[in-house]
Amino acid sequence: MIKNLTLSAAKLSCIVLITLLACNRAIHSEVSPGQITAPTIAKSPKNIVLMIGDGMGLGQISAGIYANGNKSALERMEYIGLHKPYAGDQLITDSAAAATAFACGVKTYNGAIGVDMDTIAVPSILEKAESHGMPTGLVATSTIVHATPASFISHNAYRKNYEAIAEDFLDTDIDLFIGGGAKFFNQREDGKDLYLALRNKGYQVEDYFSKELLEFDFMPHEKIAYLTALDSPIPVAQGREYLGHASTKALDFLKHKSTKKGFFLMIEGSQIDWGGHANNAGYLISEMQEFDQVIGQVIDWANKDGETLVIVTADHETGGFAIQKESTMDSLVTAFTSDYHTGTLIPVFSYGPKAELFKGIYENTEIYHKMTEVLGFSVQD
Ligand SMILES: [Zn+2]
Repeated sequence: MIKNLTLSAAKLSCIVLITLLACNRAIHSEVSPGQITAPTIAKSPKNIVLMIGDGMGLGQISAGIYANGNKSALERMEYIGLHKPYAGDQLITDSAAAATAFACGVKTYNGAIGVDMDTIAVPSILEKAESHGMPTGLVATSTIVHATPASFISHNAYRKNYEAIAEDFLDTDIDLFIGGGAKFFNQREDGKDLYLALRNKGYQVEDYFSKELLEFDFMPHEKIAYLTALDSPIPVAQGREYLGHASTKALDFLKHKSTKKGFFLMIEGSQIDWGGHANNAGYLISEMQEFDQVIGQVIDWANKDGETLVIVTADHETGGFAIQKESTMDSLVTAFTSDYHTGTLIPVFSYGPKAELFKGIYENTEIYHKMTEVLGFSVQD
């Protein structure tokens, strides 16, 4: 018995040796001298599209999926992570502190727009992209001076200084912005005409009153400002429908404008949050579904482009929104625990070159640091 085993072991080592030799020969026959290649390093994207669903927690995402026949564009994203959304001064963040974390990489106090805890301005990724020669854009379904878009372009100690925030658009070279809030540009309490000031700076300026967005030809050598409403745009359920074509037009325009350096675009589905504040599940779900459709369009665009990183996340959850046990897939019974934001961790979905950087659990400020790393910006830039 022992002898047999020994023999078998000897035979086995022989077979292993022959196999190894064969493999060795195969390797040598396939790789000729001087052809040994280094492992390929995944290339960086040229463009970043950051999509923020305001107030979009997992409850909102789940309800959006179930109410859409158990499917969503989000399921096409490649990597998922979680960020910790708390603010610099409070556990429960507002949209201003949260967007400043994404835009500028600092935890700050609730109400802060692009400034740190001491109200000192911190350069945003949009401003850094501009200084690197990259075209930039902001698209939102709130006013364009609302907390989320504002944090990428303005520096103000208080989020509701809307007229001052609108003036900050003139201090940058942003190439495109589309959102509500025309009155903060051309019907201001201080009487200034920012439409005129923007035109003098080389912008094509139009609004919902002067021209349909669909009929607005974006001239590639100019910059674009389009105001979709006098104040806040209406909910999607009441007929708002511009986010999809605004996003696609913005992508095509920025791509056309960009050199080899690429572009940065932030797209916000602003009113998922407003449905949460109103404890109105129908409002929230319809806004969620529109945002998801736009995510699908952006993925399609990025897939064709091949050089675009798409990141989808939220600033915080709103409403403590939950799907209740009486629910069926076709008929959701939902409940809210709050009419404000909650402290739950927030999913981050990513797609495209370097998407893998966004997996794991990290601070919301890491979104900024990961994006600037991907674009090759240094701390001093
Ligand atoms: Zn909110």
